[in-house]
Amino acid sequence: MVETQIVERGIRDERVIEVMKKVPRHLFVPEDIMDDAYDDRALPIGHGQTISQPYIVALMTELLELKGNEKVLEIGTGSGYQAAVLAEIVSEVHTIERIQPLAEEAKKKFEKLGYKNIKVYVKDGTEGLPEEAPFDRIIITAATPDIPEPLQLQLREGGIIVAPVGKRYSQYMLKAEKKGDKLEKHYLIPVAFVPLIGKYGWKEE
Ligand code: SAH
Repeated sequence: MVETQIVERGIRDERVIEVMKKVPRHLFVPEDIMDDAYDDRALPIGHGQTISQPYIVALMTELLELKGNEKVLEIGTGSGYQAAVLAEIVSEVHTIERIQPLAEEAKKKFEKLGYKNIKVYVKDGTEGLPEEAPFDRIIITAATPDIPEPLQLQLREGGIIVAPVGKRYSQYMLKAEKKGDKLEKHYLIPVAFVPLIGKYGWKEE
């Protein structure tokens, strides 16, 4: 998976490559599709949600430009895989999921695998986590019409936010750096994520 899907597509950050080799992706997918865990695609995890394609997880992690001492906020825990990848690199991961059973499943996995630096919250992540702000990095792993304002406010000066931004069913990967009260935005590749549902996201269908 790492050689053909990640390194060959241009991921260069050594730490990201190492971590993608280390985190057991098969333990984050439903048991009946465990054999597909290392396939080059997103997979269903129940409740209409998905675990992202391995390359996309690696890309978003690389775009965050992590050094290791960061406090990171993730919106959209899902399977917990992206949070585990982050937790291998940084000091603190706070991850928010709106679907309680997914959050609970992920929490169990973190305990079983010994991740002590991940905290899971069940709420609308578009409002962020003001009580833990500011964050050095923010990653949104669901499609958003724009960067929710609370998240921009909760990002540290000079911090980076990575998110799929655009329409409900098609987006561009956005990397944005906070400069004063502005975000310096760079749009990268086209992507397709499940929608971010909440006050500053999309309405439930
Ligand atoms: N990072 C995940 C991928 C998650 S898919 C992984 O590694 O598996 C996107 C997730 O975002 C879904 O689980 C969905 O329920 C969640 N989500 C959507 N809107 C949300 C919101 N407003 N707050 C928190 N989570 C949200």
